[in-house]
Amino acid sequence: MSKLIIEARINEYMMREQGNVNVPYTPQEIAADAVACREAGAAIVHFHARKPDGAPQHDTEVYADTIRGIRGSSDILVHPTLGYNTMDDPSAPARLKHILELAKDPSAAPHFVPLDMGSVNVDRYDPQARRFLTTDHVYANPTGDLMYFAKEVRAAGLKPYLTCFNIGFLRYANAFADMGLIDEPLYMCLVMTDSIFLGGHPASRKGLQSHLDHLPPGKRVEWTAMSYGGNLFGLVAAIIAQGGHVSIGLGDHPYSELGMPTNAELIRRVVAIADECGREVATPAEAWQILNPPRA
Ligand code: ZN
Repeated sequence: MSKLIIEARINEYMMREQGNVNVPYTPQEIAADAVACREAGAAIVHFHARKPDGAPQHDTEVYADTIRGIRGSSDILVHPTLGYNTMDDPSAPARLKHILELAKDPSAAPHFVPLDMGSVNVDRYDPQARRFLTTDHVYANPTGDLMYFAKEVRAAGLKPYLTCFNIGFLRYANAFADMGLIDEPLYMCLVMTDSIFLGGHPASRKGLQSHLDHLPPGKRVEWTAMSYGGNLFGLVAAIIAQGGHVSIGLGDHPYSELGMPTNAELIRRVVAIADECGREVATPAEAWQILNPPRA
């Protein structure tokens, strides 16, 4: 079993008003948080550039400033997001533009790019009120767009991070590997979602296991698991024991039921569970060797 790769998912589009004031927004806040997460044991930081008021931000320069800020004090591997479909221009080239520009600049080049291997409804559901808060939010990832991302990301020397909300997404990743569009080991993020997002597997042993039962057959796979909208800790020991990696952070869930933790505190809690399970934690350099070994 490989060493455990911990990814800190520090902000997504989570607002501080949603339960935790420690969600980082500005490049300086994101860089400081990334450094703290690395010191706590994380090997990868996933972040979304944000405006000072928390609104989404897609400027290449803001991403570059953030990554340079991280690199100045840390060797943590960098995983910025793609542009979201809510941008004025949601075409595939527009969503990938900042990534390709960053990749040309050694001081700001990322390591990973997320490819969500399918489309999913992302309206929030209120189980108490028994109603959806919106009814038209689709996270659209057409097949042609994914093929474009896969080709461009490989040409730029970056590693695709294959986000999979359900088994259909896993089958897409398998097809892309069969088509020669993505390289092994496939790095797959198995998404579980809590009751406000119904598009992923439930964050339960069965929800995780049904992902694992459908990993691409015969392919070399490294998988990580996350819970969007819910607390992952109930599954962390099971993930670690089964050879998975852990992706966690305030971007997915405010964890206000644990007080007001920082991202680094969540990472320390994962490291403590790994210690109890007897699994060593990977450094960023070790994580890169596991996920992107040199070609034979
Ligand atoms: Zn993200």
